[in-house]
Amino acid sequence: MREPSLNEESSFQYKKGKLFCEDVSISQIADEIGTPLYLYSHRALLSNYERLKGTFRRLSPLICYSLKANANLTLCRILAHLGAGADILSGGELYKALLAGFPPKRIVFAGVGKTRQELEFALRKDIFMFNVESQGELELLEELSRGLDGKIRVSLRINPDIDPKTHPYITTGMRENKFGLEMDEAEKLYLKLKDSRNIVSKGIHFHLGSQITRIEPYLRCIEKMSKFISHLRKQGVDLEYMDMGGGFGIAYRQKESPLDIEELASQITPLIQERGLKLIMEPGRYLVANTGIMVTQILYRKRRKEKKFLIVDAGMNDLIRPVLYGAYHEIKKIQQPKKTSPMEVVDVVGPVCESTDFLAKDRSLPQSRQGEYLAIMDAGAYGFSMASSYNARLLPPEVLVKGEKWILSRRREVYSDLTKTEATSLEEENLIPSYPLPFVKLQGSGNDFIVVDNRANLIKDGGSLAMKLCPRKTGIGADGLLLLEESPRADFKMRIFNPDGSEAEMCGNGARCIARFAYLKGIVGRRCRFETLAGIISCQIQGKKVKIGMEKPQDLRLNLRLSVKGEIYEGHYLNTGVPHFVLFTSRVDQVPLKELAPSIRNHPKFRPQGTNVDFVQVEKGNTLKVRTYERGVEEETLACGTGAVASALTGNLTCGISSPVRVKMKGGDLLVYFEGAKDNSFSEVFLEGETRLIFEGKISEEVENV
Ligand code: PLP
Repeated sequence: MREPSLNEESSFQYKKGKLFCEDVSISQIADEIGTPLYLYSHRALLSNYERLKGTFRRLSPLICYSLKANANLTLCRILAHLGAGADILSGGELYKALLAGFPPKRIVFAGVGKTRQELEFALRKDIFMFNVESQGELELLEELSRGLDGKIRVSLRINPDIDPKTHPYITTGMRENKFGLEMDEAEKLYLKLKDSRNIVSKGIHFHLGSQITRIEPYLRCIEKMSKFISHLRKQGVDLEYMDMGGGFGIAYRQKESPLDIEELASQITPLIQERGLKLIMEPGRYLVANTGIMVTQILYRKRRKEKKFLIVDAGMNDLIRPVLYGAYHEIKKIQQPKKTSPMEVVDVVGPVCESTDFLAKDRSLPQSRQGEYLAIMDAGAYGFSMASSYNARLLPPEVLVKGEKWILSRRREVYSDLTKTEATSLEEENLIPSYPLPFVKLQGSGNDFIVVDNRANLIKDGGSLAMKLCPRKTGIGADGLLLLEESPRADFKMRIFNPDGSEAEMCGNGARCIARFAYLKGIVGRRCRFETLAGIISCQIQGKKVKIGMEKPQDLRLNLRLSVKGEIYEGHYLNTGVPHFVLFTSRVDQVPLKELAPSIRNHPKFRPQGTNVDFVQVEKGNTLKVRTYERGVEEETLACGTGAVASALTGNLTCGISSPVRVKMKGGDLLVYFEGAKDNSFSEVFLEGETRLIFEGKISEEVENV
């Protein structure tokens, strides 16, 4: 009978009208992290492994999980922890297998096209067995293993020419397939290896194909291999291991039967024991296929005269099996359909620009609506591992469920992942000219900024460009240069350069300006998150108004007394992304800021990085009037966002003003929101104010000569 997909034994069950994985509602996960997504059950993985181990217990086989089925690191770690070995096909799989904790002495390496580098890597790690597939590979191994301590272990992979009666694309043990060696060729090599100083023949390997649901091909092959082993023994080649590969088939449809592993075990046990052989097996699909599902959402419904389409957000790039092999995956609604739900025949298709992009054809499903989630069942094997970024689609996340808990085993890709290995800067090769370089000038509460989209990384030295562009006579004129760059952690990264070429960690007004810029250029929506040197900033854009969430303020030091030019000044130090020293005064307009501020900015107490300086006057109605001297600009600026925040927070602690605080600066008003705690810490700190787009232009290459 079919492996359970939705009965009492399955990890995927309807409970209270919703499909659950173990004890977690799948729609909850989908709501939280979006679709498409892959989801795996810890319990199913364990039970598949234990069942296989138990069934073949009399042979105590080395179960080498075939990573090609699903090389998810979390799943691999669990299997390694259970004591499984690994069957690998590439240097990349070896890397992942080792990272997951499979010991080298349980790793077997098959593959027709192992490169010199891959073989060297595996030799360095002293893996258990090389399953050699050609004479050329054996010669290369011979060469590479010269000078190594001890002999390396090989099995020859035999092409037994047996039809496993599976899909023609996944047979591997027939003469017309590229895999393995013919028996007479293998015999010659075994005999030659008797004299090898570096290599010892340890075993024989075969792999008939994948998704095999009948035991006969295995029995025929093991019979054939056993005879061959006896024949070799007579010639002095004594093999210890028989590696029967993988291929154990599961039932993808209700009416199908999986491979009867109990029957297989009972029939092959005497054959293997008789010859005193040790067994290796390389299951992939059997262990992980029914462990996983893919969850997708219906984007649209479409109707033609004779066809109905459900257009979903997962495509052939996410799960290629239906397209590649015409494979069948059961599809379940996440919302349990009523028994009386009408059925409809649909094609479930993806968003990829190929007519072959489908997950199911002419499938009878209970009627479903736009926005509903669907589960593509039994997608744990050859699902994610065959996924690609075709159409520049982002690889989906992978989740592992264990009981009531779930963990994000792999995050969803973000756009910058798509180009992380590509050359994005082409100006050095003069393929794309850097100039004229488009820029936008924005101002926020009187701080003005030149903003450049640097996602193509055309600007290598922001500091030197800032020194050329910020001066008001010889450049464009601005308080700073903002570069919008790619970020692996957020929607984009802000870099801010002062007119003196130094890079600042953060600037509240600059942050608001760059967020508006990103929105205007279509790089982000109304809500976004971006990276700064001072941490991640969240942001909401509403017309000209931009509200940013600030990182938690740090290093608060209240009532700090400084001696400056023979006088004592008392103020409060706080880092709101950049350092600020805040002095409260009754007449802010009268403060001799020009004379006083530079000495405070450079005061020994604040070395080496120095500090910004804010003079603050408390007015009625939670309002402050603030003047700021900015480090880097080295003069009073019309406004400073981090200064407004520092003034409002220290004002809360020392003068009792409360959120929201209106901060009046020469360049305009800002609003500061926050929540204070008893221990003088703050959370939920937001800065809101207007931004203005002043003009757009192009920087000419003559700027280089300034
Ligand atoms: N071993 C070898 C050499 C293979 O080529 C494969 C799959 O192609 C496997 C094991 C795993 O096969 P399955 O996932 O069908 O068990």
